[in-house]
Amino acid sequence: MDLGDMLTEWWNGPHGIVVAKAALCHPNRPLSARGLCRSCYEMKWNRGQLDDHPAKRTYRRRDEFVADYEMLRSEGYDRTQIAQRLGMTRSGLDQAYRRAIRAGALTPDRTRR
Ligand SMILES: [Zn+2]
Repeated sequence: MDLGDMLTEWWNGPHGIVVAKAALCHPNRPLSARGLCRSCYEMKWNRGQLDDHPAKRTYRRRDEFVADYEMLRSEGYDRTQIAQRLGMTRSGLDQAYRRAIRAGALTPDRTRR
């Protein structure tokens, strides 16, 4: 199963339910993350271009972080790998993780890494 298949499965799964805000790239489509609609997000993801669409480095919106984190975690990445994938430092990721947990926006990891 390649990444595209995993993404498709993810988008079609329970995690794919997103808040219906308008995407910046296609205002007629719901926002998925980083201001992008689902298909643009997936395309950027596949091309490794998500970093072109911050999610401001200094202030990653929590729902975007949570969406990214949950997806990567569900695919079995550990936190160090998730940090790399999101362009964050490991300590920055841990901070964002703890904030998201405290806010009730994210469920705790099943295994402590
Ligand atoms: Zn789009």
